[in-house]
Amino acid sequence: MHELSLCGAIADIAARRAGDRAVEVIHLEIGQLRQVVPDSLTFCWSMLTASTALDGSVLDVERVAARLSCRACAAEFGLTDSFTFACAACGGLDVAVLAGEEFVVTALEFAPA
Ligand SMILES: [Zn+2]
Repeated sequence: MHELSLCGAIADIAARRAGDRAVEVIHLEIGQLRQVVPDSLTFCWSMLTASTALDGSVLDVERVAARLSCRACAAEFGLTDSFTFACAACGGLDVAVLAGEEFVVTALEFAPA
């Protein structure tokens, strides 16, 4: 399961940064191209962290919209619902991804000591 391996990576990062502190909230940036289902991520997180030091912590996910750039005509465009990678201006398929592949733990919030 995709979300489960992502949660494993998040837990590693959070545990390393937290040390002895109790984590309450983990802020994440996840790009639109990552195909992550937030509900499924939350579910996997509670399953994976049950009975660990991270038990009870929650994920706060900020989605980052995809931005693509056409190498043929230099147009910049976002993704439509159909997830086509064709240039919105010229229909070209040679596009570069500017944003949307993020998977970053941006901040941790700790319980008051
Ligand atoms: Zn183009």
